[in-house]
Amino acid sequence: MKHTLNKNKQEILQAAQKQCLKHDLRFTSKRSNVLQLMLHENKPLSAYDIMADYKTQYNQSISAVSVYRMLDFLIHAQLVHKLASSSQYIVCSHITCHHAHETPQLLICDTCHQVEEIGIGTLLTSELEANIAATGFKLQHQQLELHGVCSSCQKLH
Ligand SMILES: [Zn+2]
Ligand SMILES: [Zn+2]
Ligand SMILES: [Zn+2]
Repeated sequence: MKHTLNKNKQEILQAAQKQCLKHDLRFTSKRSNVLQLMLHENKPLSAYDIMADYKTQYNQSISAVSVYRMLDFLIHAQLVHKLASSSQYIVCSHITCHHAHETPQLLICDTCHQVEEIGIGTLLTSELEANIAATGFKLQHQQLELHGVCSSCQKLH
């Protein structure tokens, strides 16, 4: 799904709150703080980056365990995605979108480390799923991570 990404933090937060309400999930102030911090940084962060940032921004120490718990919640609520290749976390780019969340295809720039999230079309995913189903494998989680150089970094060369 191609669209212009919403960069308005307030709108993203409101949409996140709504999304949690709809799915009967509690968007506590701490969870909201973590999401705000991630939106503010606007780059992939590790759990330890988040822990350190939380202390600086909110003047409150939180344990690594609670950071991981909050991240698990945010992932479950489909507000955050984990980059398996680097164990970092990014905010979902489609929180304010009205379309159903598609299988994330994460384009990771190896130069500036920005990540662009685009959805994979249903045609392609159903082909993938059919291939996998044929082997008897049970798929639980799917996401593609692709490494390369983003368009702005390419312009710099
Ligand atoms: Zn997403
Ligand atoms: Zn979208
Ligand atoms: Zn780049």
